[in-house]
Amino acid sequence: MPETLVLGAGIVGVSAALALQQQGHAVTLVDRAAPGQETSFGNAGIIQCEAVEPYAMPLAPRALWQIASGRSNDVRWTPAALMGQGEALLRYARHSRPLAHARAIAAYRRLIPEACTSHAPLIEAAGAEDLIRRDGYLELFRSNRGLDEGRAMARRFAEDYGVAVQVLDGAGLRATEPAIRRDLPGALHWRDCWTVSDPAALTARYADLFARRGGRILRGDAMGLHRAASGWRLGLAEGGTVEAGAAVIALGPWSPALAGRFGLRVPMLLKRGYHRHYRPATTPRHTLADLEHGVVLAPMQAGLRICTAADLAAQPSPDPRQLRRGEAAAAELLGPLDPVEPQAWTGRRPCMPDMLPVIGAVPGQRGLWANFGHGHHGLTLAAISGVLLADAMAGGAVFPELAPARLT
Ligand SMILES: Cc1cc2nc3c(=O)[nH]c(=O)nc-3n(C[C@H](O)[C@H](O)[C@H](O)COP(=O)(O)OP(=O)(O)OC[C@H]3O[C@@H](n4cnc5c(N)ncnc54)[C@H](O)[C@@H]3O)c2cc1C
Repeated sequence: MPETLVLGAGIVGVSAALALQQQGHAVTLVDRAAPGQETSFGNAGIIQCEAVEPYAMPLAPRALWQIASGRSNDVRWTPAALMGQGEALLRYARHSRPLAHARAIAAYRRLIPEACTSHAPLIEAAGAEDLIRRDGYLELFRSNRGLDEGRAMARRFAEDYGVAVQVLDGAGLRATEPAIRRDLPGALHWRDCWTVSDPAALTARYADLFARRGGRILRGDAMGLHRAASGWRLGLAEGGTVEAGAAVIALGPWSPALAGRFGLRVPMLLKRGYHRHYRPATTPRHTLADLEHGVVLAPMQAGLRICTAADLAAQPSPDPRQLRRGEAAAAELLGPLDPVEPQAWTGRRPCMPDMLPVIGAVPGQRGLWANFGHGHHGLTLAAISGVLLADAMAGGAVFPELAPARLT
C-alpha cells in the first residue's frame, strides 16, 4: 500500500486525502491546525455548478476606471498591494484576454460538470446532508440594464453550456425571495448550484470520514518537509516524524512558499475576502449575489454571512471598507442588520493568473505532487480535484492545462 502525505487540511487537502484513500493509499493528513480553519472556513459556501467561465480580470476601460477610482466594490487596491502582486496581476491581465480566457473556459467546462457529482458521494458518506441545500442561488439585478445583460448571459449559458438558469422578473423574485424588501427589476436563479450552511463543518465532516476510513490526521509544520531515503519526511508537532513515498502540497494560499523550496515558482495572486455574520429581520431562503455591490449574502448556521470580493492588500484591514459597503447594500435589501461577531473574518483566495488550479507532479521532484491554486472555486472544485490528483498519481492522464509543468 503506497504511503502518502497530504499537507494541508483545507477542503482541497481533505478531499484529496479521501480520493487517495479510495485508490488504496495509506494517507496521513498534516496541518498546523484543525481541518478547515483557514480559507475553507470563510467562503460563501456555494458549490458553483454553473461557474463554467472562471473570473477574468475586467479589462474594459469603464470597469478599469471604476476599480481605479474606488467606485466599484469588487476590488480594493493600494499602490503597495499593486507593487507586491504586480507580476501575478500582469500575468492575470494577459490571461484575461479573450483567447487566453477561452482556454481557461475550455478546461473549466470539463471540471465544473463534475463538481457536484464528485461531492455527492462524499456528502452522503460523511453524513453531511444537513449542511447542504440543492436549490441554487440568486444573482440580483438592481437596474433594468443589468437585468437585460443577465438575461443575455442566461441564454448564452443555457445554450452553450447546458446550465439550468431561470430569469425572474420583479414579481417572480418577490415570490421566490419574500425577504427582499426592495423592488428590484429581477434576478437569475442559478438552479443547479448547491449551498453549504457551514463550510468549515463540511470540511470537518469530510475529515472525520477520512479518519473513520483509517486515515491519520496529525499536526505539524509543512515547511519542514524534506527528502528522506524512503521519499519524504516531516517532523510532527507532538514529536517524532512521519515518512512517505509521496507528498502532496495542498496548502492553499501558503502553497507557493513550500513549492518554491523545491524549485517550483508559483506566481499566485492572493485575493483577500472578508466575511461577517448578521441577524437580519428576515433571513432569505437563498444565497443572494448582489454583484453590483460586490457582495454575496449567504444564509449560514451562524447567521447571514456577508462575503466581500477582492482586496489585494497583503495585510488585513481592521475596518474593511468593502464589508461596510456590503453591509449598507444588504440593509437596503433586507432591512437593519445586527452583527453577530465583534470583528470580521478574513482569508485569501489562492488564485492562479491563468485561473486554473495546479494539479499534478512537481517537475524534477520525484514523489512530490501539487493540488492548490483553486482561487474563487476551491469549495466547488475540491472533490473533482482530489479525483484528478489520485488518477494522476496512479499513472493516469492529467489535463496538461492543470499540470505544474506549465509554470516552468
Ligand atoms: C470570501 C470568500 C468567499 C469564497 N466563496 C467561495 C464559494 O462560494 N465557492 C467556492 O467554491 N469557493 C469559494 N471561495 C474560495 C475557497 O474558499 C478557496 O478556494 C478554498 O477554501 C481553498 O481551499 P484550500 O484547501 O486550497 O486552502 P485552505 O482552506 O486555506 O487550506 C490550506 C490549509 O493549509 C494549512 N497550512 C498552511 N500553512 C501550513 C503549514 N506551514 N503547515 C501546516 N499546515 C499549513 C492551513 O492551516 C489550512 O488548513 C471563497 C473564498 C473567500 C475568501
